[in-house]
Amino acid sequence: MAKKDDNDVSNKCNACKKALKRVKRYYRNNFYYCNKNCFEKKREADLAAAAEAAEK
Ligand SMILES: [Zn+2]
Repeated sequence: MAKKDDNDVSNKCNACKKALKRVKRYYRNNFYYCNKNCFEKKREADLAAAAEAAEK
């Protein structure tokens, strides 16, 4: 009965946290994004964080 699409975490962009419409989502590395731009942004942030962690 529940309309699970709206509240499902997996339907939110992993970069900007906006809710995603089923047709518009962009799936990469087990996460959903609005588009390639959000994916690239998130990937760069992860790489920067990883590089920082590696330096310590
Ligand atoms: Zn996004």
